[in-house]
Amino acid sequence: MSVSPVYRAVLDIDDVLAFTEYATTKVAAYVERKGSVVSAIVPHYVPPGVREFIQLLYRMEDVQVWFFSSGDKSRNHPFVRELLGEDTYEELKGRILSRDDLWEEKDSWNAIRYKKNLRTVTQDVDALANTILIDDNVNNSAAGQGKNFLRAGCMDGRSFTLPDIKRELYGSDGMRFIRIRFDKRSWPSGWRSSVKEGNCICVMMAGVWDGHHQFRIGFVDQITHEYREVSVEDPELRNLFYQYYHYNYEEYPSCVLDKIRSIVENHGGRTRKIWRRPNRIFCVAGLFFTALKNAKRENISLSESLNRFYLREAGDGGSYNDAMRRMLRHDELYWRGLKLLQTINPVLQFTSPQNYPNL
Ligand SMILES: [Mg+2]
Repeated sequence: MSVSPVYRAVLDIDDVLAFTEYATTKVAAYVERKGSVVSAIVPHYVPPGVREFIQLLYRMEDVQVWFFSSGDKSRNHPFVRELLGEDTYEELKGRILSRDDLWEEKDSWNAIRYKKNLRTVTQDVDALANTILIDDNVNNSAAGQGKNFLRAGCMDGRSFTLPDIKRELYGSDGMRFIRIRFDKRSWPSGWRSSVKEGNCICVMMAGVWDGHHQFRIGFVDQITHEYREVSVEDPELRNLFYQYYHYNYEEYPSCVLDKIRSIVENHGGRTRKIWRRPNRIFCVAGLFFTALKNAKRENISLSESLNRFYLREAGDGGSYNDAMRRMLRHDELYWRGLKLLQTINPVLQFTSPQNYPNL
């Protein structure tokens, strides 16, 4: 009988687990309250969800947690110790790889590049197939280890800043609303596909009957993933819509948002858009644990499972790298990640314009 495999998650530190740059006072205060700030030479800002992700990995008997950062070990070790505590650090300290562990590799111009070769983690071919590097930079991946790479997406203090213009377009719960007039010439192009992708909800003025302005709400049904429209029956809401209709980029007041939210949710739609950049660790968690589950179910290696998932996503178009990038826009993975990480911390939530102060 074959022995059940050991899976290895090799975690990059900078801009995946923590960031040190562009942390404004507001960002720093938020992360300190909802995530943690770890002092390792300089302050490292660890957003909500990161510690939970590591704890969930660590709790699984068949998963080994490794760290691999191009930073110096004099920074990497205190980081892990501060983040996970003395006891966990004692168990993991042999699995923290640093700048000294990078491998030299020559690129096609014969220049030397430094790589996070997973053969530092394990020399065994079968074990290597169950080892995944979670990193924001694909160039850190060694030659021939593309299959072992999970793109985490880069995150720093800027990820917590929405440009002002975007802020105006979002409702207070982070869902963008587009308003469409009955007059087709003023309809924004691509509105329907934007609604279909779950990026916004649209409120349409659908004409005047019986002396009343009629409105419809367009959204995506979360079960069928189809576009749906419902007409607004509530005369009070119709009046509110009419009142606020002409201020195109003005936010709806919260009383209107609450009503839209309850209508959409009562019809099986979702009203909260995920603010993806500050929440990338949730997507990483969703992706990693989905690949792990599939690997066990289909009796294939973890890298093969991840690879199949990406290729399915890529379809006929685009490269493998594009598929990895597209995966970071997969809302379902964020929700899956959130659910899993809530088993560690039940009050954990996405960072959203609602819980992010003064946005
Ligand atoms: Mg990095």
